[in-house]
Amino acid sequence: MVKEKKPLRIGLCGAGIGGLAAAIALQRAGAQVTVLEAAPELGEIGAGIQMTPNVSRLLIQWGVADVIGDNLVEFEELNMRKMDGTKVGYTKMMPDMRRDLGFPWWVVHRAHLHEGLVKVAEKEGARLLINSRVTSISYQSSPHVTVTTSSGATHTFELLIGSDGVNSIVRRTLFPYVKPTPPTSNCAYRAIVPYEQVRQDPVARELAEKLTMEVWMSEGSYIITYPISKGKDLNLVLAHHVPDNRLVDQVEDVSIEELRETYKDYDLRIKTVVDMIESVQRWPLLVTSLPSWSSASKNIVLIGDAAHSMTNHMAQGAATSMEDGAFLGRCISSVISGHITLADAVSIYETERMPKAHFKQQLSFLNGAIWQLPDGPAQEARDAAMKPELERRLFLRSSNLYGDPKTVLGVYGYDAGRHADEAIFQFLRGRRRGDWRVGRGIEKETYDDVMGLFMPEGRKGGARGGED
Ligand SMILES: Cc1cc2nc3c(=O)[nH]c(=O)nc-3n(C[C@H](O)[C@H](O)[C@H](O)COP(=O)(O)OP(=O)(O)OC[C@H]3O[C@@H](n4cnc5c(N)ncnc54)[C@H](O)[C@@H]3O)c2cc1C
Repeated sequence: MVKEKKPLRIGLCGAGIGGLAAAIALQRAGAQVTVLEAAPELGEIGAGIQMTPNVSRLLIQWGVADVIGDNLVEFEELNMRKMDGTKVGYTKMMPDMRRDLGFPWWVVHRAHLHEGLVKVAEKEGARLLINSRVTSISYQSSPHVTVTTSSGATHTFELLIGSDGVNSIVRRTLFPYVKPTPPTSNCAYRAIVPYEQVRQDPVARELAEKLTMEVWMSEGSYIITYPISKGKDLNLVLAHHVPDNRLVDQVEDVSIEELRETYKDYDLRIKTVVDMIESVQRWPLLVTSLPSWSSASKNIVLIGDAAHSMTNHMAQGAATSMEDGAFLGRCISSVISGHITLADAVSIYETERMPKAHFKQQLSFLNGAIWQLPDGPAQEARDAAMKPELERRLFLRSSNLYGDPKTVLGVYGYDAGRHADEAIFQFLRGRRRGDWRVGRGIEKETYDDVMGLFMPEGRKGGARGGED
């Protein structure tokens, strides 16, 4: 009699965007997935989120895009402006992004994205358990991991994935001494204003004539706006430095006067929209740096903000979480087909994904600095580097990283599934030869290359860790 193979039990701690994406990828790979979520109901708070082509490809592949439908909004163009409204940079989004990368650059309300991910995760067969806050994790005394939840229930898995965000209990269990920190006093407000309200205002209505993304750059602050919810709402992310340069590590309530004061000197059109915001909270921008993403015995691994929270300036936090899930899904598929062990899968994931996430953390920080430069030589060099795209001339590089060809290909053109397949292939080939190489070392080169673009002569290479 043929003995039936036991399914591989994988537990996810956290049903955020990263946890749900991983649930879909892992369930598709053939694992038996249980997602433990602390909240009493499934959902996402907050406003809009960008789903750049590196992850719109996943939403399409997994069928999530079909579920979300028109709530995934594609916009025509990106305008980069100074705070007085002067246009300094430009990226044609539609149809160019789809044509160049094969996938759209979408913007969406977080609630719509989350709902789409939940529906598909459930359809794929993942078990989603709410009211299940993980309170303790036992993983050293056996190859399996047993977690206990706040209700006293226990669950045992071959692999536990920490997808529980920036305050992750899974990360704190593995690395109790690590604390996510804000690199500077830079924080963000998030807000939504109905397009109808913008259209009715004689000054602001010009901003609602077509569906665009606008970035308004100033010293120490910026505003980015884009449409969400079938183009009915305008989403705003407003970066700023806390007045006393305090380091903020928790969400804070802020008076509406403080918000208005920060943006009072911006172009009247966008200032008018900011004045329509009724209430806001200040979101910290925390960065997590870890020496490893897994337990020594490779039965626990981290994804998403739990592993690599980053500043928001490249719109890659959630996107990177989703890539993690897609990558792990391919590795787990190779475990289930018997080509590699679970420990191999976790090692391949960490080896390949850690430099990628680290690079995006650096790049996001850098883009925040680019968008918040004080007027002067560096800002002039930034604007000069964007000029060819504004004049619709051919260009090879730009300090507008949302349109810079090399960054676009490397970040927004990245295919996590393909990367995983290549890494597994290299691993299997290397194992035969006994020379599997750890790390690839291309990221620093790309970072320095981008840095060199906008820094004035004499300061090149000097902005790493500089003021954001
Ligand atoms: C202003 C701003 C703008 C941003 N814009 C973008 C953008 O445009 N594009 C983008 O890709 N990213 C963006 N991000 C980043 C993005 O929001 C995060 O990176 C992303 O939400 C992280 O997803 P996650 O699933 O890893 O964690 P989370 O979304 O934090 O999810 C963690 C989940 O785990 C649950 N949980 C926590 N503890 C436990 C426990 N003990 N037991 C069980 N469950 C638990 C939580 O309830 C939650 O559901 C932005 C961030 C900010 C601040």
